[in-house]
Amino acid sequence: MASPGLLVQKFGGTSVADVERIGHVARRVVATAETGKRVCVVVSAMGDTTDELLALSARVARAPHPRELDMLLSAGERISMALLAMAIEEQGRRAVSFTGGQAGIVTDTLHGKARIVHIKARRLREALDAGRICIVAGFQGVSTEDDDTTLGRGGSDMTAVALAAALGADGCEILTDVEGVYTADPRIVREARKLATLSFEEMLELAASGAGVLMPRSVEVARTHGVPIHVRSSFTDAEGTWIGQEVAVTDGMEQPIVSAVAHDTSEAKVTVGGVPDRPGIAARLFRPLADAGINIDMIVQNVSAEGVTDISFTLPKSDLARARPLLAEVREALGAEALSEDDGIGKVTLVGAGMKTHPGVAADMFDALADAGINIQIISTSPIRISCVVRATDLERAVQAVHDRFGMAEASSVREELASS
Ligand code: ADP
Ligand code: ASP
Ligand code: MG
Repeated sequence: MASPGLLVQKFGGTSVADVERIGHVARRVVATAETGKRVCVVVSAMGDTTDELLALSARVARAPHPRELDMLLSAGERISMALLAMAIEEQGRRAVSFTGGQAGIVTDTLHGKARIVHIKARRLREALDAGRICIVAGFQGVSTEDDDTTLGRGGSDMTAVALAAALGADGCEILTDVEGVYTADPRIVREARKLATLSFEEMLELAASGAGVLMPRSVEVARTHGVPIHVRSSFTDAEGTWIGQEVAVTDGMEQPIVSAVAHDTSEAKVTVGGVPDRPGIAARLFRPLADAGINIDMIVQNVSAEGVTDISFTLPKSDLARARPLLAEVREALGAEALSEDDGIGKVTLVGAGMKTHPGVAADMFDALADAGINIQIISTSPIRISCVVRATDLERAVQAVHDRFGMAEASSVREELASS
């Protein structure tokens, strides 16, 4: 049942990086509570804690046991949740912290990228009803086998959105180190513009294409459960970006054709050369990878010459080590001539719901890359996205060139102008 006046606020690692910032977050949370709202806060680990814990584990073991890794990594968020609860109490408001398990977040047993199976929110509800501010450790849950699990990098976004859905909150604020979702990563494109609104679909494509501001799976959950997300700065009160159902297109109001450009360097390219061109080859090649849970992103198959062809595809760099033996086996079985990998690639993606009805957007993007002298290796499209694989060393220029070509620095649509007036 919907609880009126309930807000979930999630603070990322940079926002709780040291005790001064935790004090600032405490004041901000208390100020929200003073408006009469009930507040459930989700915190990330302080600063780079998760990376530091990962580095520690790498010093004691080459391939740490996934269960032990989750025991270690989940400790990061435990520190920030307790410190924030103390800081809030210090300001005279009652607060109580919960680990993911205590908050009732039950996951499957896939350590390192566990999925939430359900949330038993009774304890949180009781604490909120008793007037407490709840602080929940992000990024973690407890498995159906009673072990601590983590939800994957950036997983505190997931915790926040899932709790907002489970508690029937009015919305979910993602408070971070930028003022919202921009037309490109503001660290790469200086003149990138903050977007007032985005549809779930657009945000999902952006997040899945590398815009690290939100974890992709959290956007999926928000869309499924209709949780509006407000991405905004934890340091200022400025209005951020609202993500929700698609804005209704009414008379005289057109959606922008393109919304934003994302980039991603987390993937590598594999090429299987000299594969016989006959039915069943792609299935034989990709089945073992799928069975191993390795996500293939983009695929190209060249026109065959003399009965043989090349197939290239991209996969997460972090899965390369696992994919290698599988690929070697398939190569043998297929009688393919060559197998090579390239981790020096990057992907630039243009996203916009308006692209569906505007032909020529892809051609404009290719023109922009051609004019910048950037070679495209693989292309893939969806109704609201175009992605190109380029050399990693060309990636930042590619993002800038596409951003420039579509004039994204200027407010481009009636929708944006209305929202900002
Ligand atoms: P947090 O620790 O708060 O979760 P993240 O580092 O996960 O923060 O996400 C915020 C970062 O996302 C920003 O600092 C920015 O560099 C990056 N980012 C990438 N693409 C975008 C974009 N289109 N708009 C805003 N930020 C983006
Ligand atoms: N601390 C975790 C990470 O760094 C989760 C998060 O911050 O969202 O990935
Ligand atoms: Mg994050």
